[in-house]
Amino acid sequence: MIINGYTRTCGVMGNPVEHTMSPAIHNTLAEELGENLTYVPFRVPEGHVGEAVKGAFALNLLGVNVTVPYKSEVIPFLKEIDPLAETIGAVNTLVRVEEGFMGYNTDMPGLYRAMCDDGVAMEGEKVLILGAGGVARAVAILAVQKGADRIIIMNRTLEKAQKIAEEVNGLAKGQLASARELGEYASLPGEGYLAIQATNVGMFPKTEEALIEDAAFYEKIRTGYDLIFNPAETRFMSLVKRSGGRAFSGLKMLLYQGIIAYELWTGAEVDAVLAEKAYAAMRKAMNQPKC
Ligand code: NAP
Repeated sequence: MIINGYTRTCGVMGNPVEHTMSPAIHNTLAEELGENLTYVPFRVPEGHVGEAVKGAFALNLLGVNVTVPYKSEVIPFLKEIDPLAETIGAVNTLVRVEEGFMGYNTDMPGLYRAMCDDGVAMEGEKVLILGAGGVARAVAILAVQKGADRIIIMNRTLEKAQKIAEEVNGLAKGQLASARELGEYASLPGEGYLAIQATNVGMFPKTEEALIEDAAFYEKIRTGYDLIFNPAETRFMSLVKRSGGRAFSGLKMLLYQGIIAYELWTGAEVDAVLAEKAYAAMRKAMNQPKC
């Protein structure tokens, strides 16, 4: 592309950001759609998020993604916040409005769009969430909104899972969710679960690890969704498949959170053909030398 005086700039702020694959998504979309737009990483040092948001607005940036560790920390520096992002308590996309930015969460809509693409529904399902961190909490909220039949949150630290279950039951106005300690998997009732792996276990470089090794656990899972995107096939996914289930990675969630952000910034509509091109660019970027 030609960068000139009309080029609009977007980017991602986080710390670290060097591993990001978002430039591959957004720069491919811009190129394919013929938009004069470029997307770059911005490493923001600890304690400088407010200045970064102010600076991004002053520099006329069109939009900014926000990644770890600033998704919650950025909220006080926004002019407005979308209700979904407010409920989740995390913002990953900033969109320019008058005198500042409005914060959105495209991670959860991104996961939902990835699931639709993969033919996985939450409606009427027994959803088992592994982990109780920021993303697990957001997944639990998504599961309520999309009509899950039951939600079980299993975590190493039981109290954190209990807190999410209580919040979810408050939102659902009923006893939809319950919490368990990770070691209690053998007593999970029935089978046919949609299991969403929302911990860091199995992430590069510790790719040989899985949260649970026991094959008896995996026999309870019909569909396994690992939110980790590196490696593209985690050990959790292999264990689900070995027991006859379907398994998906977090790569498409990453793709669609980016696509939704791009759509918010530019008003473009990204169709399936274009999404596939951005997906291919992302997979290629994953295998490129890190320098
Ligand atoms: P987080 O808030 O730090 O939560 C981490 C979770 O992992 C906690 O439940 C923690 O348990 C558990 N955990 C960590 N190490 C463990 C171990 N050795 N054994 C058992 N449990 C362990 O992280 P997060 O922000 O929610 O992110 C979770 C995952 O989502 C990450 O893998 C991240 O890559 C992925 N993610 C994917 C996308 C995407 O687009 N695909 C986007 C965002 C995040 P305790 O509570 O007991 O500490």
